[in-house]
Order: sequence, then C-alpha cells, then structure tokens
Amino acid sequence: MLRPIRTLLFIACLCGAACARAQSVSGTDARAASPPSLVVLITVDQFRGDYLDRFGPQLQGGLARLARGGAWFTNAHHDHAITETAPGHATLLSGRFPRSTGIMANRIGVVDPAAPLLAGPGAFGASPQRFQGTTLVDWLHSRDSQSRALSVSYKDRGAILPVGRSRTEVYWYYPDGRFTTSRYYRDSLPDWVSRFNARKLPQSYVGKAWTLLLPDSAYKERDSVSVELGGRNFTFPHRVPEDSSQAAGVLPGTPFMDEVTLALALDGVNALGLGQSAARTDMLAVSLSATDLIGHGYGMDSREMHDNILRLDRNLGVFLDSLFKLRGASHIAIAITGDHGVATIPELVPASVTPRPVRVDALALDALLRRLVAAAKIDSGLVEMDRQIVLADRSALKNRLPGLDSVLAAFVVQARAIPGVARVDRMQDLYRGDTINDPIARRWVHQFPAQSNVQLVVTLTPFSIFSGIVATHGSPYDYDSNVPLIFYGPWFVPGRYPEFVRTVDLAPTLAAVAGVKPAERIDGVVLRHALK
Ligand SMILES: [Zn+2]
Repeated sequence: MLRPIRTLLFIACLCGAACARAQSVSGTDARAASPPSLVVLITVDQFRGDYLDRFGPQLQGGLARLARGGAWFTNAHHDHAITETAPGHATLLSGRFPRSTGIMANRIGVVDPAAPLLAGPGAFGASPQRFQGTTLVDWLHSRDSQSRALSVSYKDRGAILPVGRSRTEVYWYYPDGRFTTSRYYRDSLPDWVSRFNARKLPQSYVGKAWTLLLPDSAYKERDSVSVELGGRNFTFPHRVPEDSSQAAGVLPGTPFMDEVTLALALDGVNALGLGQSAARTDMLAVSLSATDLIGHGYGMDSREMHDNILRLDRNLGVFLDSLFKLRGASHIAIAITGDHGVATIPELVPASVTPRPVRVDALALDALLRRLVAAAKIDSGLVEMDRQIVLADRSALKNRLPGLDSVLAAFVVQARAIPGVARVDRMQDLYRGDTINDPIARRWVHQFPAQSNVQLVVTLTPFSIFSGIVATHGSPYDYDSNVPLIFYGPWFVPGRYPEFVRTVDLAPTLAAVAGVKPAERIDGVVLRHALK
C-alpha cells in the first residue's frame, strides 16, 4: 500500500547513531575471568513475556534450563511503538532504538531487489541496506578480525537484522525447503549449507502429524476454538502434507520448523569452528520463527501455542546439550529474548475490557486522508498514509504548509472518531511531550528520528488490531512490548530481576561480558547488577 518502501526510505534517518539520545556506556569490565569464546543470541519470534511462567511447571528442557539457571529479567520491553519483527531484531545486537537503526517497520525491513537470493530468480532480494550503524558483531570483529559470526532463521529479516550490515554467514529458509542467502553476502552457498540442503530435512516431515506432546489432560485450553486459523483446521492433529514440496511450505507453521533451524545452526557451529578458539569471541544468532506463525494463526491462548512452547523447550534442550558437548558450557554466554509479544485475539478478549477491541480497516484511514488531501488541493503524492502513520514531504510542500497543517489537524479529529482508534498524535508534539509518564509517547519517539517525514501516528485502543489476520502484534502496549530477557553463563548472577529494562540493554550487557565497547553511542546500558 502506498509505496511504503520508497516513501520510508526517503524519510530514513540520515544522522545514524548521532540522533540517538544515548546513554554512554562507560567501562566494559565483567568481573568473570575471561571473555566467552562464543556468544549465542536466541530470539524467539513473538515470545510473550508471560509464557515462561504460564507454562513453567511443564518446562524441563532448554527454556527451563535458561530460566532457572540464568539472570532472568521478567519486565523487559521493546521500548518502541511498532513492535514488529524487523525493528525488534534490529534492536537486539545494536543496542539502539528503531529511530537510529533505520529499521522502523517490517515494510522497510530487508527487501532489496538489488540483492537477489541465491535460491532463485523469482525470489525477492534481501539485504541489510537500510540498517544504519553497527552491532556487537562489528564490535567483536574490530577487536579481532578473526572473530566469526553466523546468523540463521526461517525469516530473512530474522537472520539478517541481528548482525546488522556485517557481510558474514547469514542464512534463511526458502519455501522449497532449502536455506539460502542473498548476493549481498556471497555468490554461492558454502559446502556445509549445500550439504545441509541436500539432506532434505524439511521433506523428512512429510506426512508427520503435529500431535500433543503431553497427555490431553495437561492442556487446559480448549482445542476447538473456531476463530483460530480463520475457521479451518483448528484442531489437533495438524498433519504435514504427503506431497514433499507442499510439506516444505507448510512446515514453518509447525514447531518442526524450529527443529530444522536449530539443526542448521549446529551444523554451522561445527563447519565454521565457532567458539573453538579461546583467543577470540565468535557470535551465533538463531531466530526461531515457528512461535510467530503459530501465534498469528491460532492465537496466544490456543492449545497449539501451549504445545508449541513445550516443544520449543524440548528442542532448545537438545540444542543446548549438543552445543555444550561441542564447546563446553563454561565458554559460552547465552542471551534469549523475543522480538515482540502478541495480543489476545480481539474476539477472545475478556468482556471486562472496555472499550471493546475491534478490527480496524487501515483502508478507511487511508481513504480519510485522501479525501482531506484532495479537498485541500494538495499534491497527493506528497502526503501518504502507511497503515498507522501519516507521512508528508514538508520541504516539497513549503509553499503549502498552512494547507498541510489544516489537513493534518482535520485528520486528527476525524480519525479519532473511527472505532478502535485511541489517539492520533503529531510527532512534533510527542518530541516535546512527557516521555516519562506517557510510555506510548516515549515509544513513538523511539521509533522515528526527529528528521523523518512522519507527521502523525495512530495508536489503536488496547487489543484492537488492523484487520486481515487472526491475531497480531505491532502496538506500543505492554502485551506487545514485553518479552523474556535471560542471560545465561558463568558471567551472570542467576535469579529473577523484576525491574523495568529494555531490549536495547541486551547488546551492551553482552559487550561488557565479551570485553568490547560499542563503536558508537547507543541507547542501551549495561545491566551491571546481573554481572558477577
Ligand atoms: Zn509476527
């Protein structure tokens, strides 16, 4: 809609990290003996902050191990407004908010026709060309040019954005069942990825059924909830098709996808010798996407999500056992978190919540803006709606600014009257506003640099979502921003930490453990009290 990629490229922050109102990171000493030989970031896509407690008694694998043995921040948030996959992943190892990374929404994420995929000419290209600044991978590399990094995910943005612009080993899934990369990174797949693809692991799930891991009585959720998956195939078992090409396409919507992604990560650790040398620190980033696809399809309260988290726990247990066997747990620092949370399916929100959440038609907001722009006889190419934001090129409209401001003022009033719209703010007001007591204002300010063309931002009422999907995320509310944040390894003091922290604090904390400093001003701070 509305050529968002072109438009938002145009508004992308030009000043890079300089616009971050950064708290400088002073000192990087972690008191544990020597830096890790391997830093592992595990990102669970759509990992709600409450899942670990909700399913806690039934967890016994990797999630249980990390939560019980690690420094677990239970009140960690993506402190930005558009809680989507691309901005979330870009924040984690950069320590910077979207206003500074340049990755402000999924739609201005990694799509790049100039970087075609190796998998085939028909595929969209992808690269980090919009990402600005550096990440922990660059900080490690500038200390030791031998430092290596690998990033894998089902999703292109989940693999690309954690490691920033680094031209390292970055692989994601192609719907035919192969892992691929783009020409931004290399012109041919390395042998170890080709060998992995030749095993056709995704196709090995042909005909397999996703059944409940535990006895039926272990699940309190009803299975038969017809709003799930748009009313189709919403009860167990969920069978992977017999046709192998169909199976490869369906796999990402099941917990089996994470098994395949983790298997690729382990192959990569072996092939690249990650963590093998005590003299340097390597980086492994793994983003697991099944939880996101299952959450969008079945919702956070579904029996499917419950079972998925149990399977994620078991799969991570196998992964950690294998990793520790390969490299030794005492040399590995692990962080696990999410890129965003998710909201309850609007129709399932408790009756006590008012106003009642609704599904908002983004086209209605677009139509309203178009009507106002046309009535004011302003060039419609210079004022655009991109879902929840209104963009205008003020410099091109410098002779029409009073007219533009009238349009914006009228939009604010009329959009607020649309059911499901909570507030419509002018960004210029938010930059001057109370970002301490108004977290929604603060999250919008963290989203866009002050120099952007974003004029207005629309915030829906709690649990309202834009229509077109069963369940989703993307709001500035805590249910979308809260994710688990756990640090694990001998450098960290285990325990539950209830204080408010931000996911931008993850990168500087790992940097402190690895003994490197951020190469630029960042937004995050070292969570020192979790360090030994
Ligand atoms: Zn999602």
